[in-house]
Amino acid sequence: MTAKVAINGYGTIGKRVADAVRAQEDMEVVGVTKTRPTFEARMAVSKGFDLYAASKDNVAGFKGAGIEVSGTLEDLLGEADIIVDGTPKGSGYRAQYEEAGIKAIWQGGEKHELTGLSFNSQVNFEAALGAAYLRVPSCNTTGLIRTLYPLQVAFGMKEILAVMVRRAADPWDTRRGPINAIEPVLTMPSHHGPDVQSVLPDLDIQTIAVKVPTTIMHLHTVTARMKREVTVEEVLDVWRRTPRIRLVKGAEGVKSTAQVMELARDLARPRSDLFEIVVWEEGVNVKDRSLYYFQAVHQEADVVPENVDAIRAMMTLEEDKRESIRKTDLSLGIPPAF
Ligand code: NAD
Repeated sequence: MTAKVAINGYGTIGKRVADAVRAQEDMEVVGVTKTRPTFEARMAVSKGFDLYAASKDNVAGFKGAGIEVSGTLEDLLGEADIIVDGTPKGSGYRAQYEEAGIKAIWQGGEKHELTGLSFNSQVNFEAALGAAYLRVPSCNTTGLIRTLYPLQVAFGMKEILAVMVRRAADPWDTRRGPINAIEPVLTMPSHHGPDVQSVLPDLDIQTIAVKVPTTIMHLHTVTARMKREVTVEEVLDVWRRTPRIRLVKGAEGVKSTAQVMELARDLARPRSDLFEIVVWEEGVNVKDRSLYYFQAVHQEADVVPENVDAIRAMMTLEEDKRESIRKTDLSLGIPPAF
């Protein structure tokens, strides 16, 4: 079976998910939507995606710009088995998807309560089998879960504190700039801690966030009290056997997010996307039973593999999470971990 996948909102996340879905043997993209005739709309057409207007009101804009659309979202819903919603938070499409009887995946801007199921490939692939609706949590949340979950399984943890140094805007996003400030998020915990708990309810985690004037990558500093004594080598060994984690070394010149993204460019993937969570080997330290580490998250990319696995689970194209992760990662050029 091939799943027919639609993308509503061909923006930062939507266009990446569209390319990733197209790279799968068991899925096809039946169409993508845009609200306005932007360069991204033209790119979608030139890449061979069928373009749909998000609503009837948007059709004239595309006509005026000489961009052909295949219809509206309503028409697209009739073509697809499942839709990936990459629209801005709160766009409010759930009723329309329900009416069309289509499965749907939302992104991290939405609250857990919208679907009642927040997804991570490693943690709860099985819970998503056949599901009608789910949410892939945010880039930061996905990043924290990727490194914390395998440690929780291997050693057990209590009292985690993650401080997130967050990019202020995506690289293309001049609406939020210019920016020259450091902005603490004054809510404690930041929304990331409860968001991690939407997938891992028993994890004792607090999060603090600070926005900084950079556009590429978030950096997390994580402190965790371990339930038993661990060594740095044991921790690294767990991550080496965990998919979608990339260990880097300061000694090899990866000193900051700038070199991480240079490494990503050297990987020569589309858009220089780094789907993996990056952990600095020398930054991993253990003192008494406390573990300390730094990790970096390419905010535009890390949730993409999770969206692909979520489609596979919801459409029951694959029942074994390891097999789904293997297929997704092979198609995206992510090195295998098992
Ligand atoms: P974006 O602004 O880059 O893209 C949104 C897309 O939706 C655009 O193509 C826009 O034209 C379209 N759109 C806007 N209003 C629409 C409407 N009413 N109907 C249909 N389409 C509409 O946004 P994004 O960054 O891709 O964010 C989408 C979701 O992904 C949000 O929930 C966000 O929180 C989440 N997310 C974003 C990032 C990130 O770093 N950008 C990372 C992880 C998750």
